[in-house]
Amino acid sequence: MIDLIDVSFEYENGTRALSHVDLKINSGEFAFVVGASGAGKSSLLKLLTRETVTTSGKVFVNGFDLNRIKKKHIPKFRRSLGMIFQDFRLIPTMNVFDNVAFGLRVTDHSAKYIRNRVPYVLDLVDLKGKEKMRTNQLSGGEQQRVAIARALANDPPLIIADEPTGNIDPGLSLQIVELLIEINYRCGTTILMVTHEHDLVRYFGGRTISIENGEVTFDDYIKGTNEAWWQNHRKD
Ligand code: ADP
Repeated sequence: MIDLIDVSFEYENGTRALSHVDLKINSGEFAFVVGASGAGKSSLLKLLTRETVTTSGKVFVNGFDLNRIKKKHIPKFRRSLGMIFQDFRLIPTMNVFDNVAFGLRVTDHSAKYIRNRVPYVLDLVDLKGKEKMRTNQLSGGEQQRVAIARALANDPPLIIADEPTGNIDPGLSLQIVELLIEINYRCGTTILMVTHEHDLVRYFGGRTISIENGEVTFDDYIKGTNEAWWQNHRKD
């Protein structure tokens, strides 16, 4: 699903943002990427979304070789990713339904698919009944749930969430991460969540990849402090 092989990345001014990173994330996994500001998280994301290419080393995502992909295939590659951002990036003049449907319409999905799929994903994120509301009438947590529904709309194999709780009250942040874990569990979507909020990661536990000064310094499973939550999900 994601495979980075000995990846290094330098900006044009010579700043080395990533150094010899090896990272493999399999289909169906949920992984946190943590690191302080300046550690290299955004640079890693830019490589994963093919905004930039490595200085050395290889990146494979969803079966695409991002060092060799042709320009004309980049849109197709990007459609295989669902993206969630810190600042939601919704269209404030559109209602909830249209925000989720927008990407499907521009990629020529049938009206029937959209009619069925949009309510389905809105139900998954617990926003049933809010279809007609404009997104600027919603709370931050609700806006992020619209963005999660949008990311799920075309059923991508991989969702990348870039600081998804960064603009949300701490209490609601837990709900957003719970929702992402639930989606991973129920839909089998691989999810990579980048965050600088170590407390949040400690609370949930799971595969945790730490980046410090452009290097992966830890990559292992940690036990969450909220064990009850995991136990409930392991039962069924
Ligand atoms: P993070 O997302 O973890 O805060 P970044 O990937 O943004 O970290 O930054 C990694 C390193 O690359 C830092 O030293 C940062 O100053 C540097 N950097 C980030 N963007 C640029 C840029 N456009 N040009 C030069 N250096 C950059």
